[in-house]
Amino acid sequence: MSRLHFASALLPSGWAHDVQVVITAGTIAEVMPGVAPAVGDERHAIALPGLASLHSHAFQRGMAGLAELRGDSTDTFWTWRETMYRFALAMTPDDVAAVATLLYVEMLEQGFTRVGEFHYLHHDRDGSPYADVAEMARQIAQAAEASGIALTLLPSFYAHGSFGGAAPHAAQRRFVCSVDQFAALMAASRKAVAALPGGNIGIAPHSLRAVTPDELTAIVPLADGGPVHIHAAEQVKEVQDCLAWSGRRPVQWLLEHAPVDQRWCLIHATHMTDQEISAFAETGAVAGLCPVTEASLGDGIFPAHEFLAASGAFGVGTDSNVLVGVADELRQLEYGQRLQHRQRNVLSSGAGRSTGRTLFDHALAGGAQALAQTKAGLTPGAHADIVTLDTSHPSLAGRTGDAAIDGWIFAAGSGAIDCVWAGGRKVVQGGRHGLRQAARERFNAAVRRLVA
Ligand SMILES: [Zn+2]
Repeated sequence: MSRLHFASALLPSGWAHDVQVVITAGTIAEVMPGVAPAVGDERHAIALPGLASLHSHAFQRGMAGLAELRGDSTDTFWTWRETMYRFALAMTPDDVAAVATLLYVEMLEQGFTRVGEFHYLHHDRDGSPYADVAEMARQIAQAAEASGIALTLLPSFYAHGSFGGAAPHAAQRRFVCSVDQFAALMAASRKAVAALPGGNIGIAPHSLRAVTPDELTAIVPLADGGPVHIHAAEQVKEVQDCLAWSGRRPVQWLLEHAPVDQRWCLIHATHMTDQEISAFAETGAVAGLCPVTEASLGDGIFPAHEFLAASGAFGVGTDSNVLVGVADELRQLEYGQRLQHRQRNVLSSGAGRSTGRTLFDHALAGGAQALAQTKAGLTPGAHADIVTLDTSHPSLAGRTGDAAIDGWIFAAGSGAIDCVWAGGRKVVQGGRHGLRQAARERFNAAVRRLVA
């Protein structure tokens, strides 16, 4: 058991003062506001719940910053993908472990305490399954365990190169499964996460490009009640190809043909009509937004203002992991809206309301829902995932309550986090994860080999 005391803490009911939090077995046992600190309490100033990065492709952290050299005259997502494939084709299980471990250390240092790993790098370099079909999933699980981050593993089903069941490209060979292979992969992946504290599993049909309708029907039951994540409408070309294939846009197709409900998370959903926005919001499914990656890849701007007006739920993910941080994702989400609407504080919930707080509340609730967490936030029964802010940071000077969240997201960024507990385990202190140095050295050695 451990006892923490916060001068102020963001609870589900709002900000509270003099809050004592009791943690037992990785879970919040008690939250008591208005209590003076007791002898033995570990004391901090400002506490927030940890957030989920609901969408990550861990291996892509290894190529962060390596695709910033202009290719042909129309450098797009599709040229970035070539670099990604080259990288994916070279990585060994040990490389994946090295890259994922550092990534998860960085996520924790930046306020993410759970990750939804949309995992599709399954097979050996020649495309044949490893002796343990879930070899790569085990590496991901071990990286999560070493770092302390809670893992929602989302093994991805990937079978085709484009809409309508087109044959996969050779460069996709490490991702591709038959339905039967995928069922075996799911069973082995379940074992890989079973012993992880806070671990759980869902499934991730990769996209309508990579999965046929029949395959989608066959694999969704393998989620066994867990979350279902799918990429949709990230790119204009993807929308055009989907229209050419089916006469429907990707989000429209999914809403008409798949059992989309609150268990589902549509990743990106960048390109939607007004009708799709309202129909999607009505399902209660979560929009998995990855604003930094969507900006990096030139995807477009999610219609967040309209989606929130329709009472849509969203969470955030770090996706390509080109830059990792809660503040970075939430700031980019709001700034995209400002640039598009030529206004300020577009996503604030109303006059006089903090934009940072609105973004934070949505990302907390949407991230928890998308990764099947029934309790989110600083409340009894939830995972003890807690982040404290460094009140000596200049951008937090004199700030309390929502102003501290705004100071963190819009001004301080990566320097504002002090300590992080994940599942009750204190993994970050003074902004540094205990494994940072070792994880960097292992990562650097792996990536030097890969880029050589
Ligand atoms: Zn993705």
